[in-house]
Amino acid sequence: MKYLIETWGCQMNSHDSEKLEGLLLKEGHEAATGVEEADLVLLNTCSIREKAVQKVLSELGYLAEEKKRRPLLVGVAGCLAQQDQAELFRRAPQIDFVLGTMAIQQLPALVSIIEGCNHACTYCVVPTTRGPERHRPHQDVVDEVRGLVAAGYREVELLGQNVNSFQGGCSFAELLDRVAEVDGLEWIRFTTSHPMNFTPQLARTLSGNPKVAPFLHLPVQSGSDAVLRRMRREYTVAQYLERLGYLGERSADLCLSTDFIVGFPGETDADFQATLDLLEQVKFDLSFSFIYSPRPGTPALRLKDDLPHRVKLERLTRLQARQTELTLASNRRMVGRTVLARIETEAPLDGGHWLARTANWKNIHLLADGRPMPFRELVEVRITDAGPHFLRAELAAR
Ligand code: SAM
Ligand code: SF4
Repeated sequence: MKYLIETWGCQMNSHDSEKLEGLLLKEGHEAATGVEEADLVLLNTCSIREKAVQKVLSELGYLAEEKKRRPLLVGVAGCLAQQDQAELFRRAPQIDFVLGTMAIQQLPALVSIIEGCNHACTYCVVPTTRGPERHRPHQDVVDEVRGLVAAGYREVELLGQNVNSFQGGCSFAELLDRVAEVDGLEWIRFTTSHPMNFTPQLARTLSGNPKVAPFLHLPVQSGSDAVLRRMRREYTVAQYLERLGYLGERSADLCLSTDFIVGFPGETDADFQATLDLLEQVKFDLSFSFIYSPRPGTPALRLKDDLPHRVKLERLTRLQARQTELTLASNRRMVGRTVLARIETEAPLDGGHWLARTANWKNIHLLADGRPMPFRELVEVRITDAGPHFLRAELAAR
């Protein structure tokens, strides 16, 4: 089958799409270049932004027409699917199946350690849709990871809306250290971290424990204190920077990633400039940026939001253009280095390369001179070239 995955949403959704893609490739399916060529279209979306919901519904309208002409499987995955299954089937009977986030997460080694959120950001639906935080006991998490490793997984990702607020009997940093002790486990990732729960102890574990992958997603949302206050993010820009300071001199391996919301109600030119200045100062390796989306039942709905959409879009475009340059520069710094990468495909793709991924979450296109590569194992590669979205590499000389 040829499949097409369309993703709208946050980093969790992108992760999920990658996992789904990995599974489909593993089952022998192939990526389609467009809807016309696809036998299966999977829409992976979140319910965080109203725009994502609207886009899915309009895409489903188009797919309904396609389905009249030829056999086509249509699936919806992600948070929207998780929350509103019945409603989705009612509004869009062309859907063949729905895959909630929980279902996606059960397939690969993603370990949800906290449900819900105790913060109260004024723009966010999570506290109402997911409720207050529920933490799993640490031993439970360690046991699950042990089981996953016994089943052949070498890498796990601990998940939570604020994963680092973990309090299941130990601190989050301690949990990482305990999970790292599981024999046979190679890398541990975690997402998403809240800046207010980012401690010096966690910074030390991140840089000091070799099994903890050097990747930190620490959403800042805005570079303006006034906007952060209206968002009720609980920190100032200076406090955010202080937290980053816990990392000491930033290691060349660490990939630092963030989220931005642009066009939050009342965001002035000066506020937006402050966000660009922060981007320039920190030089994030990666960021996910969104235009503010008014969500039902959130306090931010009461704020005056009179900035034209055109201006919001302009700001988003400027921010993303600068981020692409910074990501490219970050990727280029890896050229010439020899690193470990995990093989993510069972066979080379059409271009003759294998997909692999480094510990700091960079995509690799690996040329292996016709040699078979071990699926899901680590190999040493030498980075030869870099673009904004992936690095090229060859096998390191032995
Ligand atoms: N808990 C994490 C934190 O506080 O940083 C983030 C979780 S949220 C599900 C993922 C991202 O979606 C946020 O970092 C934010 O940038 C974005 N987001 C959430 N609500 C949004 C809204 N109403 N409009 C635009 N972006 C939003
Ligand atoms: Fe939403 Fe994250 Fe704020 Fe919680 S901390 S309310 S999940 S943005």
